[in-house]
Order: sequence, then structure tokens, then C-alpha cells
Amino acid sequence: MRVIVAGAGPAGVAAARCLAMRGHDVVLLEATDRVGGLAASFDFAGMRVDYGSHRLHPTCDTRVMGDLRRLLGPDLVRRPRHGRIRLRDRWIAYPLRPGSMLRTLPLRTSAAFARDLLTNPLRPPHPGATSYADVLRQRFGPTLCEEFYFPYARKLWGTEPSTLDGEQARRRVSATSLAAVAARAARGMFAGPSHFAYPRGGFGRISEVLCDDAAAAGADIRFSSRISAVTDTATGVCAAYGNDSVEGDLLLSTLPLSTLREITTAPAGPAEAALPARGMLLVYLAFDVGTFSEWDAHYVASDAFVTSRVSEPKLYSGSDVPRGRTVLCVEIPASPHEPLWKARDAVVTSRALAELVDLALPVPGDPVETTVRRVTDVYPVYTPATLARRRDLLAWAGRLHRVRTLGRQGLFVHDNSHHALAMGYAAAACAGPHGFDHERWAEACRAWESNTVED
Ligand SMILES: Cc1cc2nc3c(=O)[nH]c(=O)nc-3n(C[C@H](O)[C@H](O)[C@H](O)COP(=O)(O)OP(=O)(O)OC[C@H]3O[C@@H](n4cnc5c(N)ncnc54)[C@H](O)[C@@H]3O)c2cc1C
Repeated sequence: MRVIVAGAGPAGVAAARCLAMRGHDVVLLEATDRVGGLAASFDFAGMRVDYGSHRLHPTCDTRVMGDLRRLLGPDLVRRPRHGRIRLRDRWIAYPLRPGSMLRTLPLRTSAAFARDLLTNPLRPPHPGATSYADVLRQRFGPTLCEEFYFPYARKLWGTEPSTLDGEQARRRVSATSLAAVAARAARGMFAGPSHFAYPRGGFGRISEVLCDDAAAAGADIRFSSRISAVTDTATGVCAAYGNDSVEGDLLLSTLPLSTLREITTAPAGPAEAALPARGMLLVYLAFDVGTFSEWDAHYVASDAFVTSRVSEPKLYSGSDVPRGRTVLCVEIPASPHEPLWKARDAVVTSRALAELVDLALPVPGDPVETTVRRVTDVYPVYTPATLARRRDLLAWAGRLHRVRTLGRQGLFVHDNSHHALAMGYAAAACAGPHGFDHERWAEACRAWESNTVED
């Protein structure tokens, strides 16, 4: 089969590689000049840095993880998680540890958590629990919601938790009760820290090695090739980009679902295609110190700050290179219509630096280099209306003859990159010598609807 893969993020490169290795004729079209999509890395101040904090979670499919181990060798390191969360003007260790919580939190807050822990199981299930706020209040009681989940939700998605659909909670929050949170924290106390995997040289190396392997297996990879039109018919599919076009038997799209709708000539689809997603400002600050702190990530729930997370990429890889220099990445959720998004880089950088100081983080003087990146379509915003639109768009996409959509933006989901990689593998496995196995694909898509994100 001749397969066009649209987008060179984790889902696209994984699909292209598996297809090429199975002997298919593959053309991978990527709009930008780099591989990795949202999970790419770039050079800054003598280091490789990511687009926000990225870790490979241990729940990664074993086949995918096996391939990554083979391709990355000793560069794929296993690292302990060592972050912390800002609650009530205090920093507590994350993943949560009961000792740290009891030592750090004000007595009144610890008592409120204990009360919720005891009384929550006694509360009868609320049949009308349909919003993000309802679902989480039901799971955790008021204290964790008011102290952490609700302000964080306002900051990440730019809207009130009561306006978000309960599906947002099911996709984004893996813990199902306060007792489960407490049990996990207690297990951590005895079993030691949880771990994650990370490639030396930046998270983007995952997509880079898969892309190199795809090329070695014969895939034709074309960067700076933004697809502007897709023509889908019963006999074939054509993708146009720049002044060129390519024809195939199948197109696997990892493009945002709404973009696919806009550029595809096909059966009539929903008139309204826009799916709202929050963007992010990423402020990178280089300091001439070996490391900034012992904590790899600092999560800031309070909506008194625009910062949602501060991470130190050097601690993710455990590398001591470059010596005497480190970079912080400050994540600020924002959308293109907001004043901070439109502000000059210097203004955004000053705001980020001022917040680090207000958060009592040990800022070691002025940064020696700074840069700001603006990334759109980072966090899907699920309201009842956008979920209905997503359903309509997926139903429309399901009626296309030769196009299948996958990946985080392709399905408008919150998924991690290990989910996106697994989707790429699954799509390739459905492409047989005589065509695409639509039933097998539908089954895989149904299973992904219960994916939950790991933070
Ligand atoms: C701040 C942040 C933190 C995250 N942290 C983690 C983490 O810790 N662990 C984890 O596993 N995951 C994490 N993720 C999620 C991870 O980045 C995504 O799951 C992953 O990148 C999704 O891969 P994808 O291939 O589906 O889509 P994308 O990475 O979005 O790739 C889509 C590709 O399509 C290309 N494209 C778009 N339009 C066109 C067009 N018209 N023509 C051609 N190409 C086009 C884009 O340029 C892009 O390269 C995080 C994401 C963010 C934003």
C-alpha cells in the first residue's frame, strides 16, 4: 500500500516507521522543519530543551518501550520523580508522601483532608454529577478540589471547573478517590519514589530516532510540507502541499481534527469545526549555576500565579552537562487572544521571573539568556458543547473512505506521547497488504476513549 502520513509528531513517526518496516510505500509530510511535534526538543543556551515538561511514563506499551530501548540504548535513562506542589504557600513533595504533607501543611488543612478522607465514602453518589467540578468533588471532597484541582483547572483551561464536562476529569485525573490518593502516597513511602524514562539529549530524541529508523526502512520524509488540501475518494486519496501533491491508498492524519475537516474535500461534515484548545507560553531562562534546585518540577496550583509549572530539563536527564549552566522552563497557559500572549517577550519574561521570586524559588540572579515560545493547541477544553462537536467530527471522519485520524490532536484528546506512539503502532498494524482493517481500527479507537493522562 502507498500510505501518506500527515504530521511528524510521535504518532506520525511511529506509524511511518512501522509501516515502512512492514514493506509499505510511505510518504511522511510535516508542516515544520523538525520532527517531534509537541514532544520535540530544540537547542537553547548550550542545552537541548523540550516544549514544556515531558517524561516517558512507565505505563508505555511494552513493545514501544522495547523498541525505544533498542534505538536509544543507554541514552534512555530511568530517573526517580522528584517534584513538588505549591499548596497554601507551602511546597510539598510530589508524588505525595504522607510525612512531607503532615510536616508541611498547616494543621487546619491536614485536618480538613482527614475529614474528607473519613466522610467522603459515606456521601451518597450524586446522580447529576456531570461537570468536572461535580466529578472531582464526588471523588475527593471539597478540600483537595478547592486547594488544588479547581484553581489549577482555571489556570490550565481558562474557564470555571463547573463549565467543563465531567469527561475532562475522567481523562485528566487518574486517582478515583481520596482514599486511592492516600493509599498511593502510603505505598510510595515504603516502595520508594516512582520512576520515569527520559532520553539524554531531550525528549524529542524519541521522535528523532523513530524518524531516522523510518527513513532507514525506506520512508520518504518531507519536512516544511504543510498539507493544505486533502481529496478523499473511494479509489484513492491525495494530499496537496506547497506547489506539490502526493497520492496514496490511505492517509493517516495526526493533524488537528478541526484542520482535517477544514482542508478535506469529502462528504458534507459538521458546519462548525472549531475545537477550543488552550495554548501555552514557554519561558526559558538560562542561569550560570550547576543546577537550580534539587526538585525536577515545581507545580503551582494557585490561580494567583499565571505559572502552572516550572521544570529543570537538566534534572530530567540527570546529566551534568553543560557544567556550570542550567535552564528553567516556566509554563504559562494562555491563548492567542489574551493580553499576555500578545505582550512582548521581555514583558512575558519579566512576569515569569517575578513569579519565581514570589514563589520563593531560589533565583540565582539575572538569567544569562532567555527565550519565549508560543505554542497553540496544547490543552483540549472539554465542555458539553465541544464534546458534542468532537463526536460529530469523529463521526464525519469515520465516513471518509481513505483517511484515518489519530494522535493527540487528531482525536482531540489529552493523551500522553506513549498513547500517541501506541496509536501509530496500532494504525500501522491495521494496514495489511490488501487494505486497511477498519474493524480492528474501530476497536482500537474505542479502547483509547478510556485513556487517562499521567502527569
Ligand atoms: C506542556 C506539555 C507537557 C506534556 N508532557 C508530557 C509528558 O510528560 N509525557 C508525555 O508522554 N506526553 C506529554 N505531553 C503530550 C505529548 O506532547 C503529546 O501526547 C504528543 O506530542 C502527541 O503526539 P502526536 O503525534 O499525536 O501530535 P503532535 O505532537 O501534536 O504532532 C502533530 C504534528 O503534525 C504537524 N502538522 C500539523 N498540521 C499540519 C499540516 N497541515 N501538514 C503537515 N503537518 C502538520 C505538526 O507540525 C506536528 O509536528 C505533553 C504535552 C504538552 C503540551
